[in-house]
Amino acid sequence: MRYKVRLILASAVIAGMLLTGCGTASDTKHTGSASETQTTNSTTASSAEPVSQEIFAMDTYMTVTAYGDNAQKGVTDAIAEIQRLDNLLSIGKEDSEISKLNKSGSAALSDDTAVMVTKALDLYKSTGGAFDITVLPLMELWGFTTQDYYVPTEDEIQSTLQRVGADKLTWDESTKTLTLGDKQEIDLGGIAKGFTSSRIMEIFKKDGVTCGMVSLGGNVHLLGTKQDGSAWRVGIQDPDNTDDMLGVLEASDCAVITSGAYERNFEKDGVTYHHIIDPATGKPSNSGLTSVTIVSKDGTLADGLSTSLFVMGKDKAIAYWKQHADEFDTILVDKDRNVYITEGIADGFEPDSVSAEQVHTIEK
Ligand code: AMP
Ligand code: MG
Repeated sequence: MRYKVRLILASAVIAGMLLTGCGTASDTKHTGSASETQTTNSTTASSAEPVSQEIFAMDTYMTVTAYGDNAQKGVTDAIAEIQRLDNLLSIGKEDSEISKLNKSGSAALSDDTAVMVTKALDLYKSTGGAFDITVLPLMELWGFTTQDYYVPTEDEIQSTLQRVGADKLTWDESTKTLTLGDKQEIDLGGIAKGFTSSRIMEIFKKDGVTCGMVSLGGNVHLLGTKQDGSAWRVGIQDPDNTDDMLGVLEASDCAVITSGAYERNFEKDGVTYHHIIDPATGKPSNSGLTSVTIVSKDGTLADGLSTSLFVMGKDKAIAYWKQHADEFDTILVDKDRNVYITEGIADGFEPDSVSAEQVHTIEK
């Protein structure tokens, strides 16, 4: 179920891009297998044709697309980097750096992991604890790590919360050594995909890719504009009807990253429980928001903030944006299907499954 939703999301994003008639991204073939990847264009691709490849990694379907004479190299290098980062960060892989750290309680981290930890701890502070990489024991308690879902008792939540709190971590930036508090575990799942998409943009630039994009389970990162110089068109998924698009956003050279309650959830006795945990309560966040999209040049920041603002709720999210408006823009969707869009991107948003009256521009 979870995988099906994510596959649809990837298609929706590509569909959004095809509204502009850009390239031949529709040639991308889904292999139907989690582990296989398939390149849709041969190495003879001309600069007008994209090279596109799909891969299942970080628990989601990813599509890497590049244009230009060096597109094939860009895509091949990007896929290798996704696999390397997945092996480094996955909590589902026993040998990953994060799994080893969670077992040993203290470790000197690789440069990439150290960058993510530093950013995560900055976000923990600036979001008042809404973003907290120590929520993993809660993810396990609710069964999100095994898909063996369970609604815990209040006592179980309270005792698990003892192990949660990034303030209990000790981070020595000079030696890049992270030491966990008693029985703590960390998970970079809230920012890893954004870090990965930023890295792919660096690889594309280094390889001489003309323009391109990566879609990581619906998180999109765009290099440059389309070949004709116009903006890409990114479909934003409707959180209530996941086959629909809430609207289409014009964007270039930035990350467009969404956190939604629909991405991973289960239902028990008529109540739906999703995977974004409020560290203050130990429960799935009930902030009134159903989806948060962040647009930023910095993919890691965008990913961390999509999770954070989802937990913070509309009012705190808007207040946070007002203080950091030079770093990102945002689209917030609430339970009543109101859409709040910040002024920096409002002109580039075209509503699709919501009416124009439901869309409210937020000014500084
Ligand atoms: P995203 O889909 O980017 O919003 O990230 C959700 C993932 O981040 C979850 O699957 C968890 O691995 C992790 N996560 C959940 N709640 C939080 C939180 N409050 N702070 C940081 N990471 C979280
Ligand atoms: Mg995130």
